[in-house]
Amino acid sequence: MFYKKILYILLALYLSNCSSKTQKNITSNLLDFNKNSTDTNSTQKKEMNKTPKTQEEWKAKLTPEEYYVLREKGTERPFSGEFENHHEKGIYVCKGCGTELFRSETKFDAHCGWPSFYEGIDKSNIKEIVDRSHGMIRTEVTCAKCGGHLGHVFNDGPIDKTGLRYCINSISIGFVSKE
Ligand SMILES: [Zn+2]
Repeated sequence: MFYKKILYILLALYLSNCSSKTQKNITSNLLDFNKNSTDTNSTQKKEMNKTPKTQEEWKAKLTPEEYYVLREKGTERPFSGEFENHHEKGIYVCKGCGTELFRSETKFDAHCGWPSFYEGIDKSNIKEIVDRSHGMIRTEVTCAKCGGHLGHVFNDGPIDKTGLRYCINSISIGFVSKE
C-alpha cells in the first residue's frame, strides 16, 4: 500500500513535469511564430516603400489619375486639387517616392488653380527639363529620384523672393504636417 502511494506520487510528479514541458514548447513556438510574422510585416512594408521601376509596378502603386499625371505628364484640372488652397505648416513630398520637394513656407497664392511655390527644398531633389510640347517652350519639373512629373516652373513668381513659380499638380504630391 505504501509503495503504491509512492508510485502514484512519482507518476503525478512525472506527468506534471511533462505537461509543463509541453506548455513551454507551445509558448516558444508561439514566440517563434510572432517573430516570423513581424519579419514578414517589415518585409511587406519595405516592398510597399520601394520605388517602382516598371510600368506595371507604377500602375499597381498609383491610382489611374496619379499615374496619368506622374507617369504620363498629364495635368490635373485647375482649382480641383487638394493643395491649391492648403495652408498648413509642413513638407510637400513626391507622391511616387516620398522625396521631400517643397516647404509650406515657400507656398504662395498665385491664383492660377494649382499649388505654387517660389523655391524647392533642395535643388538636387527636383529636376528641370525643357518641354516643347503643345507648341510652347516651358520648363518641366520632375522628381529627381523617381522621374515623376510634378508640373512646370515659370518666371512670374514673387519678385521679392526668387521670381520663380513652381506650378505643381496637387495629385503629384503628398503632405507631411509639421504642426
Ligand atoms: Zn519621386
